[in-house]
Amino acid sequence: MQTISGFVLLVIVLGLSTCIHADDQVRVLIIDGQNNHDWQKTTPILRNGLLATGRFSVDVATSPSARQDMSEFQPRFSNYDVVLSNYNGSPWSEQTRADFEVYVRTGGGFVCVHAADNAFPDWSEYNEICGLGGWHGRDEHSGPYVYLKNGEVIRDHTPGPGGHHGSQHEFQVTVRDVDHPITRGLPKVWMHTQDELYDRLRGPAHKMSILATAYADPAQNGSGRDEPILMTISYGQGRGFHTVLGHADYSIKCVGFMTTLSRGTEWAATGEVSIPAPKDFPTAGTTRSRD
Ligand code: ZN
Repeated sequence: MQTISGFVLLVIVLGLSTCIHADDQVRVLIIDGQNNHDWQKTTPILRNGLLATGRFSVDVATSPSARQDMSEFQPRFSNYDVVLSNYNGSPWSEQTRADFEVYVRTGGGFVCVHAADNAFPDWSEYNEICGLGGWHGRDEHSGPYVYLKNGEVIRDHTPGPGGHHGSQHEFQVTVRDVDHPITRGLPKVWMHTQDELYDRLRGPAHKMSILATAYADPAQNGSGRDEPILMTISYGQGRGFHTVLGHADYSIKCVGFMTTLSRGTEWAATGEVSIPAPKDFPTAGTTRSRD
């Protein structure tokens, strides 16, 4: 009888804790540890930006360094509502890749930030989940170039390398889907702080929607195309949010970056967005940053 009571109590406690998570905070796991970018500097800014909304709890899983054994790097994805990658490095173990695929396919959320879409060129399911990627040998075998032309989505199968950017500069981001929960209520055009504007990305881009683009100006050595900047991806039961923004600390301190990242993270986890558009959001002509 005591055992049964204990079991019942355990069920009640577990039930309560589940309710608290469901009602209160979205559980985020940030992955870092290897990147050709300064992840030691950017992860705390990403984490603090998410925490500032009051909507998230955030843990960080830091991988071993490059060239070290990756077999013990096995984050417990299923303990989280959404996984946010600030990682661009060594392949994960077969077990960790399998865990990740199952996690997203069965409803886990994923957020891909900037160079995280450079990672894992040969892992097909990861590229499905990101939609597009660049560098590390990506080419026509990775999927088409995807961009907008006269407002229409173009899937361009021309052979060539995937992934490029021109000079870092401030540029306008144009919202293409004003009805999506992530972009609803934001200015249609806003000025982003200094960043790399990724262009000529390639990938399978299945079940991918483009929420926002930016014009990669040839004067800045860009592609001359309206390039995807914010995307959503559907993968099994899971949702992905992909922002190509976020090269450096000064890029992610942009209120436009952090607002869309926070909203995208909430949406990837829950399918809904409750985080409001802040009053200090950038305008078409003026950047806005927060320290
Ligand atoms: Zn970069």
